[in-house]
Amino acid sequence: MAVPFRKTSKTRRDKRRTHFKLEVPGMVKCEQCGELKLSHRVCKNCGTYKGREIVQA
Ligand SMILES: [Zn+2]
Repeated sequence: MAVPFRKTSKTRRDKRRTHFKLEVPGMVKCEQCGELKLSHRVCKNCGTYKGREIVQA
């Protein structure tokens, strides 16, 4: 198994981690209840989508 020749410096290690958690979660506020929900998905909290369309009671 290959072994790293040099220790990774703090700077290099931290620079690598700048890419961590950079993806957008796609969360928006629900128009109905104001809770954070995934966009283009039915709200998990109140079960609505685009104002109406009740999925669950
Ligand atoms: Zn909602």
